[in-house]
Amino acid sequence: MDHASEFDSELHRTALAQLDQVAAKLNLDPDIHARLRYPRRALVVSIPVRMDSGHTEVFIGYRVHHSTALGPTKGGLRYAPDVNLGEVSALSMLMSWKCALMNLPYGGAKGGVRCDPRALSPREREHLTRRYTVEIILMIGPDLDIPAPDLGTDEQTMAWVMDTYSMTQGKSVPGVVTGKPLLVGGSAGRREATGRGLVSVLHQAAKSLGMELRGKKIVIQGFGNVGGVAARMLWRDGGVIAGISDYKGGIWNPKGIDIRQLDAHVAESGSVTGFPGCDPLTNEQILEQPCDVLIPAAVGSVLHERNADRVKAQIVAEGANGPTTPEADAIMRDHGVTVIPDILANAGGVVVSYFEWVQGLQYYFWKESEIISRLQELMTRAFTRVWQSSQKNGVDLRTAALMEGIRRVADAHVVRGLYP
Ligand code: NAD
Repeated sequence: MDHASEFDSELHRTALAQLDQVAAKLNLDPDIHARLRYPRRALVVSIPVRMDSGHTEVFIGYRVHHSTALGPTKGGLRYAPDVNLGEVSALSMLMSWKCALMNLPYGGAKGGVRCDPRALSPREREHLTRRYTVEIILMIGPDLDIPAPDLGTDEQTMAWVMDTYSMTQGKSVPGVVTGKPLLVGGSAGRREATGRGLVSVLHQAAKSLGMELRGKKIVIQGFGNVGGVAARMLWRDGGVIAGISDYKGGIWNPKGIDIRQLDAHVAESGSVTGFPGCDPLTNEQILEQPCDVLIPAAVGSVLHERNADRVKAQIVAEGANGPTTPEADAIMRDHGVTVIPDILANAGGVVVSYFEWVQGLQYYFWKESEIISRLQELMTRAFTRVWQSSQKNGVDLRTAALMEGIRRVADAHVVRGLYP
């Protein structure tokens, strides 16, 4: 019996299509394949919040554990207006493959609250976060499930989750979240980890294709944690950041955007739009600009069958989770575009989250240089394995990455057996 409709959403259809395609390639046992198609558990909660105006508004939130075969679950917490059960379930599945690909002792999870975080005051955001934490408290814990920041959440959100959880335990439990502020047990290098990991695999992919990134035109959708860090690092490395966008729209200057000045503009105005010397673009147009590297680093399903044939980049590095539909993947493959898949390209975040978790459990903190070099080592090893497997098996990088991640999760299910 197929239960996919319980989790229906565009992203879930993409995640299932990827799993089904790779399961066929791996000759996966149909019983194991069936178990991997659904989350292990999913919780839907309502979150009443007293707003600044005095009235009470009810938000809907989710926490989903996809697989616990490899260990406790790990995955971000997302605040966005279109969050739904299907999207969160799909993202939890991608986390399972990502953690397995990176050889981390975690299963995949994800959480989310349907809200517009920009429309909430800091007090409302704090109350929303604390009440959400209490509603999902049975699902999280340092050896059970460890949330982290994602779209619309940040270090401050993690501090509130940690504090709320700790209050219910009567003691401080820093290991319940990662991506916390340094002051309360966060890790050096966590804030930059996803962007840094992305830039690392992008350099390796370019090198493998005989391309030098210095002087190349780069377009980035999203100027938050992932897109912002990637922009700063690539700009410092000599890349020409020709286009960049955020939720309000995009800006374009083929001669290159000064990222330091853009940071100052965003700090003042709250958006990249209106930055002097640039032409305005929509978030749809930015994906189709002439460039060498395109980095979608905002939301999912932005590259689809209606625009994929207009992507002009030679490399697409997926900072966002699930930015490409299976139809777009096929079109870009036919056009010779190299796509570095999300579960590899944005894995730096969960890798340093793992380092943070380990440091917290040991109450012993590493130097930033050590964290950076360990991250680079894991990213390099993973990229090399995926690149070699793609060459050997004659498949694209996404298929190669998924084959390794899904195989590892499936093997863990086999070796553990089926309870009872
Ligand atoms: P963020 O909230 O820090 O930044 C998001 C950026 O995208 C902002 O510039 C925002 O204005 C923009 N944005 C929001 N909605 C948009 C829309 N509809 N169209 C265009 N732009 C929009 O989030 P983040 O942490 O940088 O996450 C971005 C993506 O990267 C998400 O898909 C997330 O799942 C993925 N990701 C994040 C991490 C991490 O460590 N933060 C790790 C892995 C993957």
